[in-house]
Amino acid sequence: MANTAIATVNPATGETLKTFDALNAGEIEDRLVRADQAFQIHRGTSFARRAELLHRAADLLEADQEGVARTLTTEMGKPLVQARAEAAKCVKAMRWYADHAEALLADERPDPADVRDSGAVRAVVRYRPLGTILAVMPWNFPLWQVVRFAAPALMAGNTGLLKHASNVPQTALYLEELFRRAGYPDGCFQTLLIGSGAVEEVLRDPRIAAATLTGSEPAGRSVAAVAGDEIKKTVLELGGSDPYVVLPSADLDKAARVGVTARVQNNGQSCIAAKRFIVHEDVHDAFAERFTAGMAALTVGDPMDEATDIGPLASEQGRSDLEELVDDAVHQGARALCGGRRPPDHRAGWFYEPTVLAGITPSMRIHHEEAFGPVATLYRVADLDEAIELANDTPFGLSSNAWTRDAVEQERLARDLQAGGVYFNGMTASHPGMPFGGAKRSGYGRELSGHGMREFCNMTTLWYGPEE
Ligand code: NAP
Repeated sequence: MANTAIATVNPATGETLKTFDALNAGEIEDRLVRADQAFQIHRGTSFARRAELLHRAADLLEADQEGVARTLTTEMGKPLVQARAEAAKCVKAMRWYADHAEALLADERPDPADVRDSGAVRAVVRYRPLGTILAVMPWNFPLWQVVRFAAPALMAGNTGLLKHASNVPQTALYLEELFRRAGYPDGCFQTLLIGSGAVEEVLRDPRIAAATLTGSEPAGRSVAAVAGDEIKKTVLELGGSDPYVVLPSADLDKAARVGVTARVQNNGQSCIAAKRFIVHEDVHDAFAERFTAGMAALTVGDPMDEATDIGPLASEQGRSDLEELVDDAVHQGARALCGGRRPPDHRAGWFYEPTVLAGITPSMRIHHEEAFGPVATLYRVADLDEAIELANDTPFGLSSNAWTRDAVEQERLARDLQAGGVYFNGMTASHPGMPFGGAKRSGYGRELSGHGMREFCNMTTLWYGPEE
């Protein structure tokens, strides 16, 4: 969606509700100045003060939950129930960082033997903030993706500039306002309403210390190239095509039920959605029957309706991209066990039916590319070796799921699945206390936990020699 207009377009109707002008050069400069000035103040504040501010932001967001959830659903089409859950998850993460940041960034003491060996009388490792971080964010979890960056960054003493996806401007402006209302110093967290074409100039500005990007591979490549040229740190959270491996010892009912949620959460537009279902031949048919029945039973409809399981895709382009992947597979011999088309009633909006495709071969695009919508691919494998080989046969390495109660199989999968996470007997879900991120073309660096917060810290060695 590069260089699209900055606008709220309701994906359930296709109606443009509100458009915004991109900031001009002077307005961008004003925000850079304010971010830099805010950093000089914020970096000197105590953890107690930062925690107070972040708790206040969490309280405000909690009070705003219903209104902000409706904004999310209006801008990108996720079911309202899931939008409320996203807001609640943000509140939880803000409180978690407010309560844990000080301990996570506490000074570290190197081994006394190493301190003596270095000639020091004392040595300390201290995590100091880096400066203003540019966050380039996607529309799919428009609140959560930003908060999981902002909460640790602000607790570490950094300031943030948000370039949000062009189709979620009202959410972006809400976030800026939220932190302002919470009492953060002016400029601590600001939204830049700019198109993707304006990112390079901002990133090259010396007042930007580093960047984090969550989004597609091309966007990640572009931002990382500029940051590399400027020798600035980046964290990249890119696409995924996570495997969902089901082995004979699995609880099949549960694996099928959870698999449906894992595939269609957020209308199927989640980086960590299970996308490729790799099932052992002993349980393949039983799993396929239950999983397909579960997918076919989902309600596609108005995302504001609480009975809806799947709303529209976020953009017309996103739906066309998904259709092309499915059509390519079907033309090459894949079978749609359910779905494989738009809802037949020709409703307005960018809807697509939940789909299960069987008979996938490596020549099909969907075998290697990310399907960003409610489309699952189903594979039959003869044994664990083949399951692992197929699971790893992807350019991506974000997360993975494996259903087995066999400890030996779990150990093999933990060793051999090429991904930033392996979730056993459940679906991938992020938690503030655990690191999140990918391998291979899913990106690098981590978010969440202490590891994520330290990505944007200057890890400083303080070395004290003898004074006499
Ligand atoms: P996208 O097109 O890459 O957009 C993401 C952000 O990058 C937007 O703010 C976009 O701005 C900006 N952007 C696009 N091209 C750019 C460029 N050349 N230079 C600088 N900025 C650029 O991705 P999307 O389609 O919105 O999001 C879906 C992708 O994100 C999927 O691949 C999904 O898997 C991935 N994702 C990954 C994670 C993770 O944690 N790993 C989480 C969520 C989503 P504009 O909107 O103005 O174009």
